[in-house]
Amino acid sequence: MSESFESINPYTGKTIAKYTRHSDHEVKLRLERAQKQFLTWRDTSLPDRAKLMVKLGQVLKNEKEPLAELATLEMGKPFDQGVSEVEKCAWLCSHYAEHASEYLASEQIDTDAKKSWVAYEPLGVILGVMPWNFPYWQVMRFVVPTMMAGNTVVVKHASNTQGCAVAIAGLFEKAGFPKGAFQILAIGGKRVADVIDNDIVRAVSLTGSESAGISVATAAGKQLKKTVLELGGSNAFIVLRDADLDTAVDLAVTARIQNNGQSCIAAKRFLVDGEIFDTFLERFVEKWKNLSVGDPLKPGTEVGPMARVDLAEKLEKQMNDSVAQGAKILVGGERKGAMFQPAIMTGVRPGMPAFDEETFGPLAAFTRVSGVTEAIEFNNRSRYGLGATICTADLKMAEKLGRRIQDGAVFFNELVKSDPRLPFGGTKLSGYGRELGPLGIKEFVNAKTYYSA
Ligand code: NAP
Repeated sequence: MSESFESINPYTGKTIAKYTRHSDHEVKLRLERAQKQFLTWRDTSLPDRAKLMVKLGQVLKNEKEPLAELATLEMGKPFDQGVSEVEKCAWLCSHYAEHASEYLASEQIDTDAKKSWVAYEPLGVILGVMPWNFPYWQVMRFVVPTMMAGNTVVVKHASNTQGCAVAIAGLFEKAGFPKGAFQILAIGGKRVADVIDNDIVRAVSLTGSESAGISVATAAGKQLKKTVLELGGSNAFIVLRDADLDTAVDLAVTARIQNNGQSCIAAKRFLVDGEIFDTFLERFVEKWKNLSVGDPLKPGTEVGPMARVDLAEKLEKQMNDSVAQGAKILVGGERKGAMFQPAIMTGVRPGMPAFDEETFGPLAAFTRVSGVTEAIEFNNRSRYGLGATICTADLKMAEKLGRRIQDGAVFFNELVKSDPRLPFGGTKLSGYGRELGPLGIKEFVNAKTYYSA
């Protein structure tokens, strides 16, 4: 009997829709279709691929409101933020439509040959395993450059955002992409290894948790297939004593709370210089208390429910375990179902879950530091390495400090954010490989050397 699964509205607890898992036979058919289409798609010219991407961007823009509403219903994202997410996907499409040929241009290299060069050619069918937290952006961020490079893709989306997965498949159809160029696989995480085993799949990109990353990397390693892993983060937001506090407070609250606190690059640990700690915290609390929390469909709501009850329970446990080790809850922390009242904790130290683990929800962890040296040391103590923010008036000094930060990105006086033009990715347990910008489009290509004597 075929297995079914549901998507549930985390705000109401009600079932939105039921879906049926694809059988092994259906998965095989989809992979074969992707392989067949690859033989045509790889020879489709870059300008023709770009025309379809531009169309996809238009379809996204036309449908931004129903798409945003679906994301809100399935994972609780405030509606306005869903609209921005879809608009950003459209920007991504136009960015790669415009720049792919420049990013993928062959490079001449002077040697003894009459002519020698490197060309960037597609690999084949690439599998994407994607998370629910930005249900459109995460998928598009992998798919758009990978397909512009001439690969076809199959995407296994998170089970709790299957409606978004179906909607994305519909967008590709409406934009006129050929059948088999983009397909979804309705399977659970446990069946991903079998898909990786299939000879048709040439490489895998996973965005998700550390444990899923280990499973995917292990399965791919057994077959010597390339992986890109975009995993969790515990970004530090460092506030030095010379920072402009008005700007820093505004940035800090947004950096922690956007997407209901469920962003890999959200600021999770606030490392604040002792000299300004009390003032900064007081202003942060004031702004935090004014956040509008509630129904994510209601215009103006800034914080909705977390995406699932089990995720809110996990955050509650991390908070309580940190309290048991000496941290204090200053505000919030009450939980009802998936609704978690945005919380601020102080006295957070290395060794506590709120410092050592990824806290994937609306919980801001504050640590007082003695100055620059301790801030950098505490930043680098994390097992994760996605990104860090440093707020300071001394940019010259900050740029020097940046070299000592072990993360994939450092933002000065700005929250860490993704941008189609800039490479994005992590170090340590945050994974490896890069998405976006000129590097992202070269992850799933054969950098082929040509030599003409
Ligand atoms: P998750 O539980 O790891 O799920 C991500 C995807 O992996 C889902 O499609 C899931 O399928 C699948 N999966 C789960 N276990 C698997 C396994 N053992 N083998 C193969 N696939 C498996 O993560 P999530 O809760 O959806 O997303 C939140 C995590 O993603 C956070 O840690 C966040 O920081 C990270 N993230 C990272 C980035 C980045 O760019 N670095 C961006 C966004 C999110 P099912 O849903 O069917 O279980």
